[in-house]
Formats: sequence, structure tokens, C-alpha cells
Amino acid sequence: MTPGRVRLTALPPLSLYVHFPWCVRKCPYCDFNSHEWTGGGALPEQAYLDALRADLEQALPLIWGRRIYSVFIGGGTPSLLSAAGLDRLLADLRALLPLDPTAEITLEANPGTFEADKFAQFRDSGVNRLSVGIQSFDDGHLKALGRIHGGDEARTAADIAARTFENFNLDMMFALPGQTLDACRRDIDTALSYAPPHLSLYHLTLEPNTLFHKFPPQALPDEDASADMQDWIDARMTGAGYEHYEVSAFARPKRRSAHNTNYWEFGDYLGIGAGAHSKLSFPERIVRQMRYKQPATYMQQALAGDAIQESNEIGTRDLPFEFMLNALRLSDGFPVYRFIERTGLTMTAIEPALRDAVARGLLSRTHERIAPTPLGRRFLNDLQALFLPP
Ligand code: SF4
Repeated sequence: MTPGRVRLTALPPLSLYVHFPWCVRKCPYCDFNSHEWTGGGALPEQAYLDALRADLEQALPLIWGRRIYSVFIGGGTPSLLSAAGLDRLLADLRALLPLDPTAEITLEANPGTFEADKFAQFRDSGVNRLSVGIQSFDDGHLKALGRIHGGDEARTAADIAARTFENFNLDMMFALPGQTLDACRRDIDTALSYAPPHLSLYHLTLEPNTLFHKFPPQALPDEDASADMQDWIDARMTGAGYEHYEVSAFARPKRRSAHNTNYWEFGDYLGIGAGAHSKLSFPERIVRQMRYKQPATYMQQALAGDAIQESNEIGTRDLPFEFMLNALRLSDGFPVYRFIERTGLTMTAIEPALRDAVARGLLSRTHERIAPTPLGRRFLNDLQALFLPP
């Protein structure tokens, strides 16, 4: 055995992420690998699906014999795929991978791309969970966010999602330019009127490499105003019977996102498609990969048999922070055995940081479970930073 090498006694559950890189228009706050389709005419759907299949075929030796417990088709705007295109994608996945019969299969969708028939066909092809990027139901806020849809389209999308899918999520944002607490309340109450099994509620952030970072929008709510919105949201959602199980995620009982939970539990995922990230465990190493980001380059490379732009091993020195970065996002933290199983390390590797976090009131700890306290959840970055490598 080489000193400092990873040694895992069991491999974690494996998920599949499929990235679709195009949108009708690039939103000014978006830092995802999404590209406005400027090619004119139809998207190169078949060529992209060919590239995804080739990419997956090349990746198979890395996950040989492992079952897939969830699939997430994200973007970008994958609901721009035709019903036949999505059907072909799922048929390819089923032909090449052992999908667990109970696998959660999520498709991301944006209002403005909603046609009721197409979404019924998506469901019939095997999508069993829809995640809709609503963001707001207010025309003015949607305009300020640069979205292609208005309030009416947002309502139509939520309505079609609720009528077509038993399991669905609505993505909403708050602390928007010019937004008051009352306007935030109206948005969340409207979202709740569709009885979504899951709601993701994100604070608007100005990420580097976005237009909003370069030209910040006017009239953003200040810290106190956005904290008031967060407090109101937490109380409203809990009162409506949702579990606030992760920083931005709220679910009805038994409706947590299986796919995202696997990320937060430091599970494995294979990501295919332009710019997709993977984290894959082997008995003696844990590897991160990134595919080529530009869709045209990705398609070319995938068809030539080499879609991977970067590949690195996570060293044992970095594993505690990588684990904590994810696991501490969960309100109920993690069982001790999971840290040991997913990193191959013992608890002694993080004992000083754990003690420090408990002493500062950021973490609670029993012999079985470690979880952020309410203070730790509020100052999550500070808590996670305690686990940075020395
Ligand atoms: S629709 Fe979503 S993925 Fe596309 S640019 Fe806007 S925020 Fe980004």
C-alpha cells in the first residue's frame, strides 16, 4: 500500500448527470455552462445525442457493473429537446446502463418551452420527475432577471408540471432587484398553490463571470431585507409541511431529491455532456473529471473518443474538506460511518477541526451523527472552512 493513498472498503451509490448546453437566451445571472443558441434554425439535436452516446460508451469501463440510482438531465434547457430526441436519449441510457427500476429520472425544464403534449410524452418516455425553473411569477422581476418568460408562462408551466407529473420541483429565487418582502411572499404563496412535492428557493447571488457581476442590477435588497425574506420563507415552508433539508431545498416527506442528496452525501456521479463534471470512486482512488465545455468542441472530442478535458485524483489531504463542503449543507448532517466509508479516512483525520467547530457552537456531535447547529447553518462558509487542509 502506498502511504497517503485512498483505501475504500465500499463504493458509494452512483448517479448519472446528462448536460444539455443550450438555452434560448443567456440569463445575466447564470454561471452554468449554458450557451445561447445562435446557430439559426434547429439545434443539432441528433449530433449532440450521438456525442452523448459515444461519451457514455467510452465511460463505461470506469463504472462497470455498477447500478445507476438516479438520472438528472440538466442544463442549459434540456426541455428544448424534442419528445423523440428525449425518448432516444433515455433508450440509449437504458441500453447501455443498468438503471435501477426505482431510479429517479429528473428533467429540467424552463417556462417558455412548455407544450402540454410534449411534457406528457417526456413522462411516457420514462421521466418521473420534472424540475421547473420558474424563478418568479412576477413579470417585473422576471424581466429584471433577463428571463424569456413572463408570469403567465410561469403559471402555465407550473400548472402543466402539476397535472403531468406526480413528482416535481419548482425552482424559485428571492432577494431579486426591487423585490419587497410582500412581493417575495406573493411569489412563494403562488408556488405553494401548485402543491409542489419539492421547492428549491435560491438567494440571488452575483457570481463571477456573469453579466450581473460586471454590471450589478439596481435596487438589490440589502442584507437585513434578504435575511427577513429568508426567515419568512423558513417559517412559511415549515408551516406548510415541508422539510428544510438542505440550504436551499424544501421537500414534502419522502420527496427529497434523490439525485441531489447523493451529491450532498458525497456519492459518486458520472457526468456526460458538454462541461459535465464527474466524481468516481475506485478502491484506491477518487477521481474528478470535466468534459470539454464548448458544445462544438465537446461533440467533436466525444465522437473522436476523448471527451475529457481534465481529470484529477482527490488526495487524502483534500478529502475531509470536499466531504464537508457537501455533507454540511444537509440540515441533519451525516452519520459518522458515512465519512469513514466515503473518504476511507478515520475520524482522527478531522478531530481537531470537529472539536473547534463544536466549541464555537457551529456543530453538534454524538457518537453516531454530526450536524450543523442553527448557528452553523447560518455561517456555513465559516464552518466548512474549518476543514480546509492545513
Ligand atoms: S435558462 Fe437557466 S441555464 Fe439557461 S441561461 Fe438562464 S439560468 Fe442559465
